[in-house]
Amino acid sequence: MTTTALITGANKGIGLETARLLGARGMTVLVGARDAGRGQQAERALRAGGADARFVQLDVTDEASVLRAAKWVEAEFGVLDILINNAGIARGDGDGRPSQTTQPTLREVYETNVFGVVAVTNAMLPLLLRAPAGRIVNVSSEVGSIASMTDPDGPMAGMASVPYPSSKSALNMVTAMYAKELRDTPVKVNAANPGYCATDLNGHSGFRAPEQGAEVSVHLATLPADGPSGVLWGHLWTTDGPEAYGVLPW
Ligand code: NAP
Repeated sequence: MTTTALITGANKGIGLETARLLGARGMTVLVGARDAGRGQQAERALRAGGADARFVQLDVTDEASVLRAAKWVEAEFGVLDILINNAGIARGDGDGRPSQTTQPTLREVYETNVFGVVAVTNAMLPLLLRAPAGRIVNVSSEVGSIASMTDPDGPMAGMASVPYPSSKSALNMVTAMYAKELRDTPVKVNAANPGYCATDLNGHSGFRAPEQGAEVSVHLATLPADGPSGVLWGHLWTTDGPEAYGVLPW
């Protein structure tokens, strides 16, 4: 039986690379995208690379779209093995300082990065519970780690913004709470820190390749039965030396 993996926001960036990597492992990858044209283009690219990819229209902020996608997955596969809540946006106001934040920006970011994750997770959870080893990966960020962001000697010492970082902090708590609810089931729920990757989200200023960020999601999506649940795991900043990965502080 095939393993099915749904990735939201899979038409570009880290999500597309995650679909590519999971497809290369022989999984059926369900390419969630809010725009049909962009989603079908990604599906074609993935199929051309040999992946069993299927586009599914999925705008995480649109409840009808989320429920339709869940119905489609159920009708086509009857089960979902992996959900990667990857879709995310970053927005800011003015020069980005907390005091410049406007309500519309805050709402827009939370709609996608927090409310959207809860909506998609709740819609897909009955299907994930039918899987022998369901895995949920919430693509978060180190900027959601309050410990990292308040470390005066850390690399984020100079960064102060509200919408995106606080949405990822909320996502971290969402992750921990689902892990708690599901601790007596086979479903594992973890948050991923892809590291700073060059994508449209940051005007391609990241120093890591999107594929490297995707590897973090793939690791958490394929955890063995004795793997962790309810952690923030991924890329760790190092001043020099080789790439490092591990659990980050909340
Ligand atoms: P990206 O290239 O901008 O991709 C974001 C994806 O999310 C796109 O496919 C986008 O679709 C989709 N999306 C946005 N709003 C959506 C919605 N309402 N419904 C469905 N899909 C939606 O950015 P990325 O860097 O790959 O980001 C992927 C995830 O990694 C995000 O959660 C981001 O916060 C996280 N992350 C990124 C970095 C980094 O350095 N890049 C670091 C830490 C965490 P459209 O093409 O239709 O806009």
